[in-house]
Amino acid sequence: MIQYLLAVLLLLVPLLGECMPAQKPTNYSIEAGEFVNLPAKDNKVNKMGFMETLSILKKVFLEKSTRAPQAKLPEIKPDMNEFLKPSDFVKFIWFGHSTLLLNLDGRILLIDPVFGKSASPFDFLVTRFQPPVLKLEELPNIDAILISHDHYDHLDKTTVKYFAEKNVEFIVPLGVGDHLLEWGVKPIRIVELNWGESISQVGIKFTATPARHFSGRGLFDRNKTLWASWVIQGKHDKLFYSGDSGYGDHFKEIGKRYGPFDIAFMENGQYNERWPDVHMQPEESLQAMVDVDAKALVPVHWGMFDLSLHHWSEPIKRTYQIAKAWDIPIFTPKFGEVVDTGKPTYVNTPWWEPIPTATTTQAQDQKLGMKLVPELAK
Ligand SMILES: [Zn+2]
Repeated sequence: MIQYLLAVLLLLVPLLGECMPAQKPTNYSIEAGEFVNLPAKDNKVNKMGFMETLSILKKVFLEKSTRAPQAKLPEIKPDMNEFLKPSDFVKFIWFGHSTLLLNLDGRILLIDPVFGKSASPFDFLVTRFQPPVLKLEELPNIDAILISHDHYDHLDKTTVKYFAEKNVEFIVPLGVGDHLLEWGVKPIRIVELNWGESISQVGIKFTATPARHFSGRGLFDRNKTLWASWVIQGKHDKLFYSGDSGYGDHFKEIGKRYGPFDIAFMENGQYNERWPDVHMQPEESLQAMVDVDAKALVPVHWGMFDLSLHHWSEPIKRTYQIAKAWDIPIFTPKFGEVVDTGKPTYVNTPWWEPIPTATTTQAQDQKLGMKLVPELAK
């Protein structure tokens, strides 16, 4: 019981932080000694009382969840030969939640890789729905690892330690490098960026861009490191990854400054009406994708960890419906499925439904090699 109480306390502090809107002109407050979000036109932060916060956390983390899948979700052991074959178009594999493996211009990138047992400080809390479709040892050689922020479901100690001795570049928001150093990554392998800063590494240009979120892994480090979204620019393809973010004006700004994008990897899960400033509802994810001016959407931050009060499949069901209504191209691969964006068909099977219906469309779009308005499942 003590360990459960300790766990609740540890997890309580960062979320309580969401009760306090941060309104500063820059993303660092010297007085507060912490990173802050950009001022929002419409401050949506809902103030939760201590007891309400405690009650929600109890439901999320301690009560037996009926929100998680009742059976193993479908997965595909990836064909790595196919994945590694050179292509002008980005290929990617989704591992569930926000973990992505990219082949961009022949460079192999990992985004927010979480291969450990849980997305919390404790093995028994926030456990995975199922083991990752590949073990760390089964991954190909990785050129660079991109991290959005230091929360447990994005920055995993087990995974980082595995790569600490390898020739992998880590590209992270300001302050996150301290965690990496502590876990054995050499300083020369770490690049920390502030919002608006770019670096070309392994032939790819990475730019840190704003997000509306927060950070922290324990009781005393709330907002001590920065959170970010990322622009990833290859020779042909330009990608956007939202990291974790509430909806805000920053998406339009990013679209104006860095768009258009070939693909937006956009968070669409683990939302709640009580924390609109840190995660998006599916409608907002779609709007954010339109705002950044992306041609296609890959919904992430769902499907592997239960971090809110909604059913595990609600984010993708809602996102899929809206994408259909708005005629927005959407990729919905299974765990491990290789998505080759240069192929004339693309993956948007609603595999989360009891009887999935395969839907693929013929190529019409020159750039992505896909039709921009998919005929989604009826
Ligand atoms: Zn987060």
